[in-house]
Amino acid sequence: MQSANLPFMCGEESLGRLRSELDRVCEEIAEKFNLFDTRGRPKKSFIVDALMRNICPACAFKALTQPREDDDVDALYREGHGLALNILIEMLRYELKRNGLNAVVEGEVPGDYGRPDVTIKLSNQGIILELKGAAIIIELKTGVSISLIQLLKYGIEHPDSIIAVWRIRMKQFFIIDMRKHRQILLAIMFAAINRGLAILSGTATECHHNNRNSQNKASRVENPQQLLDELFTSITNDLPSIVDAILRLAGEKSRASENS
Ligand SMILES: [Zn+2]
Repeated sequence: MQSANLPFMCGEESLGRLRSELDRVCEEIAEKFNLFDTRGRPKKSFIVDALMRNICPACAFKALTQPREDDDVDALYREGHGLALNILIEMLRYELKRNGLNAVVEGEVPGDYGRPDVTIKLSNQGIILELKGAAIIIELKTGVSISLIQLLKYGIEHPDSIIAVWRIRMKQFFIIDMRKHRQILLAIMFAAINRGLAILSGTATECHHNNRNSQNKASRVENPQQLLDELFTSITNDLPSIVDAILRLAGEKSRASENS
């Protein structure tokens, strides 16, 4: 028996290697299951998600061949999320400017100030602050659910980023510094590649798991009064300290990129 020698343990150059290997596997899976976006690119994020959320190969096969509509989230969660995001973006823009940084929201013309210091882009669940040579990804969560796979997928696209998560109602804010956690990023990519290769080479089997219904049930708001009370209070009470934390991160990131 040989001792375990995982290919992702051997340093920085494996990031590029694993990324192109993962791209290749995603392209083959996209080809096999016809998973392309409207611009004809493989749905990489969806594919990695289906691979990593389903340990059972038959479930992964199901997820790839019968994509679930994402729209089964209770509208109250979606509305609450949109509201928090709206206020956060404008507070960030205001505070960044007050701190001497020229910030624009994606789609805006930079104006007379030349190249913006910070561009605020919309992502699926939050925003991406693009600074010179760095990115801060901010995820907003209105419910209690969270997906580490989803967070780490950002890391695959932005390996030098900081991912900040605000769980609004739970009054929690934490960050994942992808530079500090390079090994877990490589491990996730390694696992996704291997599972993808297994899916590509194997034939689908039947299984009796039914993960989908339980997920749907969990997204329904049972107590809308409590949700709204908690949400509105948390947004107004906690937003200033959240914005402060993001500004500190942005300051550290832009200083770091100036020095490098
Ligand atoms: Zn299964």
